[in-house]
Amino acid sequence: MTPPGISPRRFEEALHAFGAAIGDGNVFAAEDDRIAYSDHYSADETRQMPSAALAPASVEEVQAVVRVANEYRVPLWPISRGKNFGYGGAAPALRGSVVLDLSRMKRIAVDEENGTVLLEPGVGFFDLYDHLQDNDIPLWLSVPGNSWGSVAGNALDRGLGYTPYGDHSARICGLEVVLPDGGLVRTGMGAMAGGKTWQLYRHGYGPSWDAMFCQSNFGIVTKLGLWLMSAPETVVGVDLEFDQPDDLGWVVDTVAPLRRDGVIQQSPSMGSWLRSAAVLTTRDEWTDDPGPLGDSVIGAIRDRFGIGWWSLQLRCYGPREMTRAALDVIKRAFNARPVLAMKEARWERGDSPEGSPLTGVPVSFPLANANWHGGRGGHIGYSPVLPPKGDLAIEQFRRTHALYQRYGFDYHGSFAMGERSLTNVNQVLFDRDDRDMMRRMDAFFRALVADARAQGYGEYRTHIEYMDLVASTYDFNDGALRRLNEKVKDALDPNGIIAPGKNGIWPAALRDQAHEA
Ligand code: ADP
Repeated sequence: MTPPGISPRRFEEALHAFGAAIGDGNVFAAEDDRIAYSDHYSADETRQMPSAALAPASVEEVQAVVRVANEYRVPLWPISRGKNFGYGGAAPALRGSVVLDLSRMKRIAVDEENGTVLLEPGVGFFDLYDHLQDNDIPLWLSVPGNSWGSVAGNALDRGLGYTPYGDHSARICGLEVVLPDGGLVRTGMGAMAGGKTWQLYRHGYGPSWDAMFCQSNFGIVTKLGLWLMSAPETVVGVDLEFDQPDDLGWVVDTVAPLRRDGVIQQSPSMGSWLRSAAVLTTRDEWTDDPGPLGDSVIGAIRDRFGIGWWSLQLRCYGPREMTRAALDVIKRAFNARPVLAMKEARWERGDSPEGSPLTGVPVSFPLANANWHGGRGGHIGYSPVLPPKGDLAIEQFRRTHALYQRYGFDYHGSFAMGERSLTNVNQVLFDRDDRDMMRRMDAFFRALVADARAQGYGEYRTHIEYMDLVASTYDFNDGALRRLNEKVKDALDPNGIIAPGKNGIWPAALRDQAHEA
């Protein structure tokens, strides 16, 4: 297998040149390697199969790889750790691209006093957590639900966590980037050689570029600055359960103002019963019926595990006096409302770690939800962004729930409450060995995109298979944003070697073909 438009002989030469740059042992081009770097949650992993992978160990090696890639016109798909399951894992959007695996680059430099870290892409959430623990550094991470990926890759793809620092890309402060021509740039205050405030002041002087390297294919990030939260004195909050689907509306209207005004500083996520249940049990324990689960089975599962139709966890972080006051305000807001169950949660400095993403501890148990159907399981998410309004949330829920029913899937939705937005994460759990289910999954996904688009809602992040589809919904002024992205792409990357197709941005040579498709 070779990258598009490159003969086997020429590709062989390119692989030799890559080997000369980074050592032959760090060039992976066997069949097993390709499979290892493919998307293990894909309906058909051959569609986005890479032709090889390269694992450089330093910035200089990344630059050398980029120079060779330009010479041979080899497309590179940079990943940090490539654990981005549900969005494509390590696999590239363009079949035959060469994966640039940065997971060997693992340096960590913490500024304890100012609460920042400068890290290389290979640093995983578990690595950074261990580093902070081993060195008694009183700083906390914000981690995503499945925390086995990299801190940098997650922030660059706008991943989310559960503490007040949960909007990861918003906490980026300063990048080092290898540009598509092999040049090296540092953004923000890092643009000054020996500058002392690279991780402290985000804007820099003149235009700021950090956001340009998020969800884009304009460069390869080799160092990422990130702000970390001081370990708080206390974390207090409530775990809430709600009995009815329609409780969603009033809960959103209750939480949205508290969130906007900063009483709640993290992004709480209201999840349907299956979010809790899918990591505790498997479907075949309850029924053989292939269709979506009916109310009686749902009721039985909820009873066994004591979960509401919806569950919501709210947390406040900080000095004891402040969290106590914030919790009083939250409890007042839910007073006399139809709450099925409310349990207080409390953690104080000195207690052993609570062991959940709400307290910045990395976990990987949510991966278990891929076993829901049995077989080789997987999932994909469709996550449009809505205004934070209860009636709109209910309408969104009802329309989406009806689509889950129509395509024969069990509803698995959640609503994450941002400062001024509501992200409706719809998980679709599937069994890759069930061909009919995988066909329905594709049609279902496309129906979800069309449905949200009709309401004026766009998705915040998507799987490699659907990057063009989702990009096409951002269609103001005949696709003006796409044209802007393409202009920048052409200026920075005339040979089109960095991540062709990432977020629907294609280099000139592949553009017509991609737009037609
Ligand atoms: P994780 O290790 O957290 O699972 P990935 O490495 O899969 O994250 O990264 C998610 C996506 O972000 C990748 O598919 C890629 O498009 C982009 N990305 C990750 N790391 C980099 C990087 N260092 N430079 C540029 N883009 C990156």
